[in-house]
Amino acid sequence: MLSQRLAELRNALRKAAAAAGRPMPTLVAVSKFQPAAAVAELADAGQRVFAENYVQEAQAKRAELDRPGLEWHLIGHLQSNKAALAAELFDWVQSVDRPKLVDALAAARPPGRAPLNVLLQVNIDDEAGKHGCAPDQIQALAAWVAARPTLALRGLMAIPAPHADPALRRAAFARMKALFDALAAAHPGVDTLSMGMSGDFALAVAEGATMVRIGTALFGSRPAPGSRDRANAG
Ligand SMILES: *Cc1c(COP(=O)(O)O)cnc(C)c1O
Repeated sequence: MLSQRLAELRNALRKAAAAAGRPMPTLVAVSKFQPAAAVAELADAGQRVFAENYVQEAQAKRAELDRPGLEWHLIGHLQSNKAALAAELFDWVQSVDRPKLVDALAAARPPGRAPLNVLLQVNIDDEAGKHGCAPDQIQALAAWVAARPTLALRGLMAIPAPHADPALRRAAFARMKALFDALAAAHPGVDTLSMGMSGDFALAVAEGATMVRIGTALFGSRPAPGSRDRANAG
């Protein structure tokens, strides 16, 4: 069943990319709150790239999972005190948004491994309380990453505000593309613009996403953390 969803999603992505005249983006399967068995099922159907939001959940799931050769991305907010574990467990961290975190990841990445791939998370709609650096901080943060040999600066990631009006979402994606182009012009290794989720990946691809992060449209709905507490709170 998951293999069928995967095939349908790949089709939808291919169509969106063709309609926009752009290359097929990398599909990142967001497996947060999903069991290891679901990851195994998708891996057996040919999906290779997966993402998790929480370091400890990822650690437990991967210990259970007998599938070497998968690529793992961290997309959730990362506290500096979990950076060391993240630098060992993941191939990419997409949520880098401050110099202190860069330093912690760079120091902890084991020297024998390939450099840890880094995306800078941008708070593109300037939302209060949302993680990510401001657009005008990208250049300095990028230079900070680029100076660390155990890290590889690959690009930008964003989660635009959930505007009901698709035109506003699309405008946020377009602003990200402009920021990405400017960064790529300054740093030759930059090739990845991660944006677009289950509800808006077609818009993101139309505006130039090279990587989309999809959970619900692939795995189905996931149990919301704390949903029972919220239900009880009323
Ligand atoms: C959960 C999550 C996704 C996937 O969201 P869906 O709407 O389920 O596709 C993508 N990116 C980030 C950062 C997430 O936390």
